[in-house]
Amino acid sequence: MAKIELKKLSKTFGDVDVIRAVDLTINAGEFMVFVGPSGCGKSTLLRLICGLEDITSGELLFDDVSMNDKVPSERGIAMVFQSYALYPHMSVYKNMAFGLKLANFSNKEMQARVLEAAKMLQIDHLLDRLPKQLSGGQRQRVAIGRAIVRDPRVFLFDEPLSNLDASLRVDTRLEIAKLHHKMKDATMVYVTHDQVEAMTLADRICVLRDGNIEQVGTPEELYHSPKSLFVAGFIGSPK
Ligand code: ADP
Ligand code: MG
Repeated sequence: MAKIELKKLSKTFGDVDVIRAVDLTINAGEFMVFVGPSGCGKSTLLRLICGLEDITSGELLFDDVSMNDKVPSERGIAMVFQSYALYPHMSVYKNMAFGLKLANFSNKEMQARVLEAAKMLQIDHLLDRLPKQLSGGQRQRVAIGRAIVRDPRVFLFDEPLSNLDASLRVDTRLEIAKLHHKMKDATMVYVTHDQVEAMTLADRICVLRDGNIEQVGTPEELYHSPKSLFVAGFIGSPK
């Protein structure tokens, strides 16, 4: 489990400031949801946290240890993207086991972890199938399963449900809520533009605007006391 601290974290692409000196502490075990309009920097922020982008200035700490110079594999994180990017020629089992194989886990440990995660996500009857034989929701569960087996201390989700149709979105959202419950030790950082997802999943919601934090608070705080019309537009009841 990890406390994540962003200290004056900034990211510039060329001469565009995409993330502007963001200060934020995400508590260990917390479910933090980022919302904000397209282009406000949500994905970039996640990519800074997992190390897929270099930090321009400021500091990123996990449990008081600086991550600035750590490569993604040293950070103990798992990222679930919007497009699930499964290997098309590998079975569900192999897709889920792949990362463990690379990390030299024994076959026995690999099997145990994959089966446990598959049961948790109710995809244990699908382990022999290929991705093309699965529905979108099942594929996204495999992608989540692939993250779980590595037992990460931090989960990062970038709009994981946005490619799913409405009913699958609900099912998979409930699955993610359960996952948070079962993996109490993991810190969850979740990006969405869906108000229902934010309200139902978040311990706290962080509203981003042009690379700045507009407001952070519990769903109730943001809903009842949005500090601006901008926040109200995403979460709140109008002031
Ligand atoms: P969001 O996920 O909130 O929609 P992003 O983090 O993807 O926003 O993008 C924020 C801004 O940064 C956008 O203006 C985008 O065009 C820009 N951006 C993102 N990645 C790059 C990149 N690799 N090079 C240049 N600009 C980028
Ligand atoms: Mg994005």
